[in-house]
Amino acid sequence: MSHKIDQLLNQQLNLLKNEGRYRFFADLQRIPGQFPKALYRPNDGQKPYQVTVWCSNDYLGMGQHPKVIQAMHTAIDQFGAGAGGTRNISGTHHLMVQLEHELASLHNKESALVFSSGYVSNEASLAALAKATEDSAVFSDRLNHASMIAGIRNSRAEKFIFNHNDSVHLKDLLGKINHNRLKIIAIESVYSMEGDIAPLAEFCQIARENDALLYVDEVHAVGLYGKQGGGISERDLLTDSCTVIQGTLAKAFGLMGGYIAGSKVLVDYVRSFAAGFIFTTALPPVIAAGALASIQHVRQDQSLREQHQLKVRFLKNSLKAAGIPMLPSQSHIVPVLVGDAVQCLALSRLLLQNHAIYVQPINYPTVPKGSERLRLTPSPFHQENDINFLVEALKGEWKKLGLKGAE
Ligand SMILES: *Cc1c(COP(=O)(O)O)cnc(C)c1O
Repeated sequence: MSHKIDQLLNQQLNLLKNEGRYRFFADLQRIPGQFPKALYRPNDGQKPYQVTVWCSNDYLGMGQHPKVIQAMHTAIDQFGAGAGGTRNISGTHHLMVQLEHELASLHNKESALVFSSGYVSNEASLAALAKATEDSAVFSDRLNHASMIAGIRNSRAEKFIFNHNDSVHLKDLLGKINHNRLKIIAIESVYSMEGDIAPLAEFCQIARENDALLYVDEVHAVGLYGKQGGGISERDLLTDSCTVIQGTLAKAFGLMGGYIAGSKVLVDYVRSFAAGFIFTTALPPVIAAGALASIQHVRQDQSLREQHQLKVRFLKNSLKAAGIPMLPSQSHIVPVLVGDAVQCLALSRLLLQNHAIYVQPINYPTVPKGSERLRLTPSPFHQENDINFLVEALKGEWKKLGLKGAE
């Protein structure tokens, strides 16, 4: 039975549809061993067909790595399906203890704590940390992820927003408040929609000078940067200056779950006070087993990171040569700028229908209106001919739609 509220909700949904912002899920079945291929089932009843995925966050294909799959098979046979409770009640499996040791070691920190997701780890940790004193002040980059914004908001602490990656603006804002207050600076290292990288050394120095806690979301950097995949903090030798390093097991590590790494006391505090950690069931041992195998592999396989960067460079150069406008990314994230929601959706559909290329349009509110884009994420397993094929297809459809840029 439909309730009267359905009509109201439908109006809201129609708003999204008219603006080209309504989100369609693509029914994609990834094909293990053939990364980045997947079977796509069109929702209009047409026959399923194989596509190349160009927007996966499983950046290194670890979600299909034989070592990961093997570790998970073994774990499910040995330990069963679920965790059996919250961490406090009966969900602290030995594999979880090992996983947290591995993460602390990856980031050269005393301790680490695993959460159900990266989103939850940000929300829960920032909310708890900013509540540590009555008059905490949080300084947050304008482009921070929704999960950080939610945590800061839920803490009810006073919030100061500084312009994206603008250390001068941050310094300014810090100078305006009482020095004795607890100050938390919250940033990302690699920004997921722009692909740019924070001036981490500057932020570390500012944090030190102002006696502030530096909280760094390295979700899009862990596994990918630094000698062992410890992220930008490891690459730039700044691990010690980052008070908290937050990451996910769901992107380069290919599984799911989030975490923080920091000092023993800080992690113990979050463990003891963060609602989003305490009141929810632990991740199942099978996930911990897969994540552990994945991290151990990624840490020692430097060639995976090298191959990744090679493909990124090849794609960027090819797009540039084709005259396709990109945002100035410094990372593995390659945002192609379309600048209009309806056109962005149309381009994505044409690539899928005419070329079996899957890349999801990124629209408002994920990015500002007028900066709608396709966010390409090449992996070590995209071959040069896949890249050439993508660039040719993009060039053709770009022209057909009359978009600005490509010659
Ligand atoms: C994806 C993402 C998260 C959330 O991580 P999940 O593990 O997917 O919940 C947090 N921060 C940033 C910057 C992200 O892009």
